[in-house]
Amino acid sequence: MDYEFTIIGSGLGGLTLAALLTKEEKSVHLIEKNNRLGGCLGTFKRKNFTLETSLHVMNGVYSNENIINLFKKLDIYNNVDFISIPEFYSVKIDNKEYKLPIGINQLSNYLKSCFPEHEKEINKYFDLLNNIEEQIMDRSFVRNNMYQTAGEYIHKNIHNETLKLLLSANTLYYHDDPNDFSLITHLFAQSSFIKDSGYYIKNGSGSLVDYLEKYILSNNGKISKNSAVYNINYSKSEVTSIDYINNNRKYNSKVKNLVSNINPKITYDFMSKNSLDDTINEMLPSNSLFNIYLGFSKQLKEIFPNNSYSTFFFETIKNIDDFKTNNNNPIEKRDFVFVDYSQINSGLTDNNSSVGIIVGVDYYNDWERLNSLEYKKKKKEVTKSMISKLESYYPGISDYIIYSEMSTAKTVKKFTSNPNGSIYGFSQTPNQINRRFRQQSKDFKNLFFVGAWTKPGGGYSSVMQSGLQVFNLLKRLEQL
Ligand SMILES: Cc1cc2nc3c(=O)[nH]c(=O)nc-3n(C[C@H](O)[C@H](O)[C@H](O)COP(=O)(O)OP(=O)(O)OC[C@H]3O[C@@H](n4cnc5c(N)ncnc54)[C@H](O)[C@@H]3O)c2cc1C
Repeated sequence: MDYEFTIIGSGLGGLTLAALLTKEEKSVHLIEKNNRLGGCLGTFKRKNFTLETSLHVMNGVYSNENIINLFKKLDIYNNVDFISIPEFYSVKIDNKEYKLPIGINQLSNYLKSCFPEHEKEINKYFDLLNNIEEQIMDRSFVRNNMYQTAGEYIHKNIHNETLKLLLSANTLYYHDDPNDFSLITHLFAQSSFIKDSGYYIKNGSGSLVDYLEKYILSNNGKISKNSAVYNINYSKSEVTSIDYINNNRKYNSKVKNLVSNINPKITYDFMSKNSLDDTINEMLPSNSLFNIYLGFSKQLKEIFPNNSYSTFFFETIKNIDDFKTNNNNPIEKRDFVFVDYSQINSGLTDNNSSVGIIVGVDYYNDWERLNSLEYKKKKKEVTKSMISKLESYYPGISDYIIYSEMSTAKTVKKFTSNPNGSIYGFSQTPNQINRRFRQQSKDFKNLFFVGAWTKPGGGYSSVMQSGLQVFNLLKRLEQL
């Protein structure tokens, strides 16, 4: 059968687009190299624990108009539960813990109570966050701020090192350095998390993947798992067919419209062709994250009832210029965030146990040259020293750890093929967010891109929006 739309990769961007197209009764073939869908997303079982591969917090669930429309369209609200996290996050620095509440007024009042002499600066920062949607319509605001980093803005406008750090601690979730991270991305992300809260998906991110998979199948979409695309054929300015391999058997499938949910450079490599769009060769991928998954024999919140959902533990990072120093440290010395899933009704374990994750910045080149024995050994050593660091913050916690496992940038690369194990597509620097890779190929009129490598960028809500944007683009091009 010839499909109207062929999608390479079942990351959240590819899944969202496939669901939207099948809803319109379009014939869709989704091709995924792994034996499970979801790319970065998913849950896996170890002992009695369900462990989360990627989600700490998702934004925009009830505040972003595009996400709201999309979720209504695909009936996601009625089929997937989103759990609001209890606070923005906590930061532990110099033996002091700051617990940042959700809500513009709540958080700004909290910070003003901690740093009363900086009231004016705090008001100015939160005014900007509160009005970012209107501000972005103002050309002079965009001109003045588009090329600024979050670090530059914060240095200029806030004059207390701890306060600066509190406002940008969660950069660690999506970039490795506030001084290199786009101000505009920072403002939109913070505004959305603070106004509307962050959300976890009940039973893990795999439940969103399962729902979308069922949705696509029930609308007659075809899904081929264990099927790796290795060649894209074209004639003049049109893609004509793809070659993929499944269980050692090679297949050729004709293509009318091809959507790539994978890195654009790899996509063009499959055509043995350089893109004519230079953007692709000049842009750098984002960093990755390491995860140390922990299974506890108890509900952690019973032992540490005042813990937060996310706590950033900063030892090296004393101010926002220290992120760089931290990233240059060996992995086991890097500062991290600990996510305690027992603080919400995550559905990941029964009531007698719980799970948590130690998360930090990771780079593929820390791991790429190790052979398999060295790789396993290093993961064990890093896990051991990270757990002993965790013990210093939560005395006695090790007694409850009955399972641990580490994933790295190499793991992300293995499961997604993303260069460097990148988790956010192209790195979200001011220059790069202004040059987002196009959703329609410059070279081939029936080749499109969806997911983290294209607009609006990486992260759950962004890649879902890219699915919606490509769907709307196809409509405009009258392909639907
Ligand atoms: C550890 C970690 C933590 C994260 N935390 C958060 C968070 O808390 N909040 C948040 O919003 N975001 C988070 N993210 C980022 C977010 O998960 C990603 O940005 C997003 O899911 C990427 O989606 P995507 O559509 O670009 O596809 P990807 O997830 O990159 O998937 C691409 C898919 O293409 C498939 N593929 C690749 N090559 C081929 C081929 N040749 N043939 C067939 N299939 C192929 C892959 O197997 C994969 O399934 C995290 C990611 C990770 C890894």
